[in-house]
Amino acid sequence: MQGQPIWLLTITDQAADDQDKQRVLMVGQEHGQERSASLALLELARWLVTPAAAGIRRSQSVGLMPIANPDSWEDLRFNNLNDVNLYADYSLEGEPTQPESQAIAHTLARLQPELFCSLHGTEFGWKYRMGESNGFSWTTSQFDRAHSRLFIEEINRAAETAGFPQDRGEEEAERILPWLPGHVYHSYYSGQRMTSCVHAYHRCHTLANTMEVHHPLSGLIRCIRMLELGMQPWRTEKVAGYPVRTMFQQDETFVAAYGQTAAERRASRVELWTHANQFLVARGVSEPVGLAVTAFSLDPNDFDRWRTMEIDAFLRQYGEEQGIDLTEIRAACQQYDRLQSIRCDQIKPVANPQGAPPIRAATKGLSLRLRLPGQATVQRIWLDGRTIRPSPRDGYESWHTPNNFTMLQFNIPPRAQSDQYQRHLIVAAYEAPRIDRGKLT
Ligand SMILES: [Zn+2]
Repeated sequence: MQGQPIWLLTITDQAADDQDKQRVLMVGQEHGQERSASLALLELARWLVTPAAAGIRRSQSVGLMPIANPDSWEDLRFNNLNDVNLYADYSLEGEPTQPESQAIAHTLARLQPELFCSLHGTEFGWKYRMGESNGFSWTTSQFDRAHSRLFIEEINRAAETAGFPQDRGEEEAERILPWLPGHVYHSYYSGQRMTSCVHAYHRCHTLANTMEVHHPLSGLIRCIRMLELGMQPWRTEKVAGYPVRTMFQQDETFVAAYGQTAAERRASRVELWTHANQFLVARGVSEPVGLAVTAFSLDPNDFDRWRTMEIDAFLRQYGEEQGIDLTEIRAACQQYDRLQSIRCDQIKPVANPQGAPPIRAATKGLSLRLRLPGQATVQRIWLDGRTIRPSPRDGYESWHTPNNFTMLQFNIPPRAQSDQYQRHLIVAAYEAPRIDRGKLT
């Protein structure tokens, strides 16, 4: 506002392929006097150019905006010169109102990062003892679909292992209550306005974290831990990355971003997330009996047509309308007498903030997942009525997760906009070992 620049520092290995880099954006000092946040990010910049960070530089592009509120740096002002809380200058529909928050929003829109972090803290004088925390300003409580609690707990532990005590929202539930009536976003000091973290999640399905940093060293340790987590497969995932790939779950069915590279997954993630309000999933209602049947649609009209149907009638109608032969699958369903009907569910329309026109196909690709119980063995897989083979590009993948599920992923490559690709039918025949219930004696 006073003509001072807001710097964005990007650290990455320029020799490594950008296509396979995840993107991170970390912002400090949206609140003017919270300069310990800036110091933590400057320490991080220094660490990121050391040999210890070579792997992170190769596989991630890390954007740092250490001083987001430069006009208030000297005066130790919480808000900006217009007396606006920059952290909470966001809303579901519109754009932020201030040049500083607009700079953050533009950078978020350009990068569509996998991880966004807003760092807060104290002035350097440390006049009061402040509890440090992670993911703590309740910024994700309403929008929490990205494993954030488990992710945040990893960061808590990293700081505590290094000797820095961390405050936890779960232990302070009474603090949430004053914000409840009418305050749907539960954002810190912000009433009905949204924070930058919620904005990042809402627009791009970004994993977002608000951190309170009292000690810059503690902030550094936590930032490094986050970047390390992005280097390994998350507990439900097969490939390394931040847990942002899955954006819709209905019981055992998931919609996930498609792609073999970070750039492909990012494009698919944002397209699917933006249109998540179109998603319908209709699935066979059953006990785990060895056959899973799920239909996916981008046509909201299918909800009333599919809401509850007898399974054979559904498959007959689906096959006729899509022009595919489902005789084999109908016969398979006969063997599973508990698989009698389908039930349809619709995602709540939280996404599509810009009112983008509906899509008639996933132009960036689509991955659909079935989660099977235990260490299941796949016997046969059908996509749109035909048997498919293992392939990360056009076929299926399966893996076991540490929490004792088997994940089956159907990878459907990018399609042109056409009614032909509006719907997909995934079917899996599998064998799941009986779970040993032990003895209750
Ligand atoms: Zn703050």
